[in-house]
Amino acid sequence: MMKALVWEAARALTLREQAEPEAAANEILVKVGHAGICGSELSGYLGHNALRVPPLIMGHEFAGEIVALGSLVPTIRPDLETGALVTVNPLWYCGDCPACSAGLTQLCGDRRLLGAHRPGAFAEFISVPAKLAHTLPAGMDTVTGALTEPVGCALRIAELAGDVADADCLIIGAGPIGLLSLQMLRLNGAARVFIAEIDPARLAMGIELGGIAIQARETDAVGAVKAATDGAGAVVSVDAVGSALTREQCVAATCASGTLILSGLHEESSVMPVADMIRKEIVAKGSFAYTSANFARALELLGQGAIRLDPWIHEAALSEGGDWFERLLDAPGDVAKVLLAPAL
Ligand SMILES: [Zn+2]
Ligand SMILES: [Zn+2]
Repeated sequence: MMKALVWEAARALTLREQAEPEAAANEILVKVGHAGICGSELSGYLGHNALRVPPLIMGHEFAGEIVALGSLVPTIRPDLETGALVTVNPLWYCGDCPACSAGLTQLCGDRRLLGAHRPGAFAEFISVPAKLAHTLPAGMDTVTGALTEPVGCALRIAELAGDVADADCLIIGAGPIGLLSLQMLRLNGAARVFIAEIDPARLAMGIELGGIAIQARETDAVGAVKAATDGAGAVVSVDAVGSALTREQCVAATCASGTLILSGLHEESSVMPVADMIRKEIVAKGSFAYTSANFARALELLGQGAIRLDPWIHEAALSEGGDWFERLLDAPGDVAKVLLAPAL
């Protein structure tokens, strides 16, 4: 038997004793070290997400130790051994469809998410397809390994943003994806990265990571970016919130011929000022998760220490998971990422 945090209904997460999963022939069994709480799971927890149906063990940002190998694993993934630390790309893909063949595995027509379509990592053990496992670089712990998934999201955003060398950029939202995207754009040589946010603690993290803060509760974010760029606007704008307001603000703050990356999924649909986008020839791109190549590269960047959230990571016991979901929905304060650790 194992402990698992089971989402049973809107706002109800309960620690339960459950049977341990078993590794099928092409799977590995992982003892979870750390598993991050993702923004998409907060909306899932509230019951606002069609993808997630209770009862469900959520958790898709994780790292842990391999404790068992399915019978085919020594053949299909001879590099995987029990005792090794791994993180796992939680987006299963078929590998054969047109999207997969183009390397866009996150757009696979048959994709399945661990922690949504099948049990996730808010538990002591999880079984996963071996092909999705990535061994952690020597010396990396499961705290850092568990950040691979959100770093992968930021990597995809930065990839779609294109060449940002010496360009001024704007990010709206200083949650984990905003803070990681800020670091990616700076790594790619952006001149200035403005970061607009209403929560003072999150804004402070953005400043510490080299962003130029815009306190969006007190200042008009669009006006501030325009004023700082001689009226031109940002070459790249990233919406890491996804509300009607932040989508509109991103359009207004983007310069002519600039690029808008839509990542936040707060609202399913909203009105956008399309005529403004036409007259400025703004290129808008959706950014969803990460390709399998982005995921592998994210792990490399974490291994090099090129990207970080470590001063603002909070480790919590699985039994405190429900409290943390509530707190993250309310005012998390000085915490960028909460990692649930079954061993605590
Ligand atoms: Zn996530
Ligand atoms: Zn596919």
